Amino acid sequence: MAIDESKPMGLYIHIPFCSKKCDYCDFVSYSMDHKAQQLYLDALFTEIDMLKSKFYDRVFDSIFIGGGTPSIVYEGFIASLARKIYSSFHFLDKTEFTIEVNPASFTKEKFFEYVQAGVNRISVGVQCLDEKLLREHGRIQSMDNINETFKILKNSEFPNVNSDVMIGLPGQSKSSIVNTINYLIKHNVKHISTYTLQIEKHTLLYNKLKKGKIKPVKDEEMVDVYNKINKVLKKAGYFRYELSNYAKPGFECKHNLKYWDDESSYLGLGVAAHSYIDGYRYFNTKRLDTYIDAMNDGKSAVYSKEYVSDAERRTERIMLSLRKVEGLDLEKFKKDFNEDLLRSRADSIKKMTELGMIEISENNFLKIKDDYFPVSNSIIVELL
Ligand code: SF4
Repeated sequence: MAIDESKPMGLYIHIPFCSKKCDYCDFVSYSMDHKAQQLYLDALFTEIDMLKSKFYDRVFDSIFIGGGTPSIVYEGFIASLARKIYSSFHFLDKTEFTIEVNPASFTKEKFFEYVQAGVNRISVGVQCLDEKLLREHGRIQSMDNINETFKILKNSEFPNVNSDVMIGLPGQSKSSIVNTINYLIKHNVKHISTYTLQIEKHTLLYNKLKKGKIKPVKDEEMVDVYNKINKVLKKAGYFRYELSNYAKPGFECKHNLKYWDDESSYLGLGVAAHSYIDGYRYFNTKRLDTYIDAMNDGKSAVYSKEYVSDAERRTERIMLSLRKVEGLDLEKFKKDFNEDLLRSRADSIKKMTELGMIEISENNFLKIKDDYFPVSNSIIVELL
């Protein structure tokens, strides 16, 4: 059997459970007991069994278990899931295997389970060290939980840790963000993802905003915070490889890089997961009961499938490439889309180059300059 190893895929598995809903949360997550988690694991097994033959000649080099809160599921769940996926798909030797954990449900026992299951990257949802602020926004973890999590990781010298940091929470000060970043640097976290809070409709935070109970953070403040973070992290030896992502050299997230490359494919399993495979997008149902019923009936979890046209791919290539510090490969763009951007967007490129916002590197990549990343959206719009 010939396996194509030239374009390894990513595998994402969604765990839709949390102990309670955070005020700002727009993800698909439910508070469920052991029995419901078992039903979900059975459904995931069924989905894997239904799909494995389609991927018999493909290879994967990243696994990402995200949520929700993957660390909330009962002990043994992740080990069992890992065994199932290893026996169903092909993986390269150096596969990156990430699991997201919430400090409130992370334990030493679960940590050992993950390591034995092959997890080699742990993503800790720190978000912010201001306990009072986290409580105000419905997040459950305490400072003790966070300290304990890092103690477990440090004692076992676990080498590859990411932390997510949320920026733009109403009431969050610049110094509290910098404190959070410094704490992560001190704890030798190798990768830091900074997320700007989006206040989505149908969230508790959106209702609070509408009632005037909170005020959104102003754009200028956000730019200031982003520049400060960039400075602190650069000084500590991290480099920004994508708009919101920083890593120590060699610790970029292999899995996330696939999301920013329109030529990489990934398979998403579970409720609300989506996939991008050979130019098609697939969306799994967002309802847990519908997902489990579909699996019990041997039907597909996909509720929608769409072909990504060349025009959409062109737009995505510009948007996603410019989010990355390496930028947009102009030669490849010309070859793939039959368009010389230096001609078709000549005026915009000239103007923004003169303003010092963008540059064209020696190897012909168009890049946004470091100081202008916080306003990258407006730059990208000019080039679409
Ligand atoms: S922990 Fe994450 S997924 Fe769960 S409710 Fe909070 S924001 Fe949503």
